[in-house]
Order: sequence, then C-alpha cells, then structure tokens
Amino acid sequence: MIDTHCHIYDPAYDADRDAVMERTRQAGVRILLMPGVDSGNYAAMMNTAAKYPHCYPMIGLHPTSVDKNWKQEVDFVAEKLSALPAKTFVAVGEIGMDSHYGNDFLEEQKAAFAAQLALAEHYNLPVVIHSREAFVPTFEVLDNYSRSLRGVFHAFSGTLDDYHQIRQYGDFKIGVGGVVTFKNAHLAEVVRAVPLHDILLETDAPYLTPVPFRGKRNESTYLNYVVQKIAELKNIFAAEVQKITTENAIAMFADGSHQF
Ligand SMILES: [Zn+2]
Repeated sequence: MIDTHCHIYDPAYDADRDAVMERTRQAGVRILLMPGVDSGNYAAMMNTAAKYPHCYPMIGLHPTSVDKNWKQEVDFVAEKLSALPAKTFVAVGEIGMDSHYGNDFLEEQKAAFAAQLALAEHYNLPVVIHSREAFVPTFEVLDNYSRSLRGVFHAFSGTLDDYHQIRQYGDFKIGVGGVVTFKNAHLAEVVRAVPLHDILLETDAPYLTPVPFRGKRNESTYLNYVVQKIAELKNIFAAEVQKITTENAIAMFADGSHQF
C-alpha cells in the first residue's frame, strides 16, 4: 500500500520514527508521500526523505500557513521546484483553501493557491488539494484552470455533487483516511458511491487517527483500518481495496517519472 498523505517528518515522531517506520513496513505500507506545509518544516521533510528512501516529498504552501507574507512563501516553493532535479518532488501540495479559522486571508489564500496551480501545470506535477469548509472558493480558483490538472482532494469532506464537480477539473481523485471510520453517515455514503478507481488511501498522520485509535497519534500502520472500512462499505475484499488504490496512487504520483 501507499500512504499518499503522511506528515511523518513531524516532530511528533522525533522520539521513535525508526520504530514507526518498522511497524508501517510490517503492516504492508511500502511507500509514504509527504505533503509540504511551509518553509518552516521543509528541512525536516527533506532530511526524512534523505534518511528513508521510501518517503517521497511534495512541495507546497498549506492554506493555513498563508498570511501577509504568502508571496515570499510561494517564491520559496517556486525556487525549490526550479533549483532541484525534476524528480525530487512527487506533487505540488498541500495547497488549497481553508476557512476553518476564519476568512482573514481568504484573498491571499486564493492567490497562493492559483500561483501554485500554475507551478504544478508548468512542471507537469499532480496537485494535492486541502479544502476545508471552503469548496466554494476552491472551485472559484479552479474554474480559471484548463482541464489539464490532475491530483487529489485530500481528506475529502464534500458531497457526491462536490465529487462530480472536482472530476470536471481534470483527473481528480478523493483521498480517504481515518474519518471514514468515524460515525459519519455522510462520508460513508460518498465512499460507497465513488468508484474505487477514484479513491486514494491516506492517513494525514499524525492527525485524523481512525477508530479504534481515534484521539491518539496516527501512523501509516493504521491504514488497514481505513481499508477495512472501505471494503465493508463497498462489500468487496480488503485485498481488492489495497490493490486498486495502490495502482491509483502509482498512476497518479509515479507517472513514469518516479520508480515506486
Ligand atoms: Zn496534511
């Protein structure tokens, strides 16, 4: 399996990262994709990638890291993309819109999101989109784009209509993680209806820990609880969920350039 969204470079793992990696491997998770957040944790991410070759970095400015200084941060992303070899990053992410903490920087978030979509298009990379309580402005930005984009709406929280909408913007899939194990009839219904070919597995570790570990620190090891729940919802074998979602992740992020 591939955990397509995992903050394994987070300080939450500094004390026992080796042990987490070993458990993850034993649980059948072979590759971890690490989303970028901002320049502040870039070094930690790249150090983790250097030490653990099965952990692949992305580069991007997270919407909750957007403030008055967003231009400087987007320049940082642009500079890394242009300075480092072409296969360094598997995606531009995580980028997008978040109004959970208010709308103070809504316009700045839109500008940063648009600028990074342009970078992804320029470098022909998939995008990892974070959209929390913000589908309307997210779609407003995407409306200005051609359909050449591809990527994932990570920790997808939208409706079936939102899913149909994101398919209009290019080859977009939904990222499904621990939230699907919560008592949440709405997401269960969406996952049941969305074809398995449009689903990617993710943990968003250390956040969004699935039941029965909800509330504790998350890790890729627990991806199997997500798989189990998807299998149950779709009334198929867990092995099929693992196989198809892994193929989906390879097609999206390896794309002939990375050797997963
Ligand atoms: Zn994340």
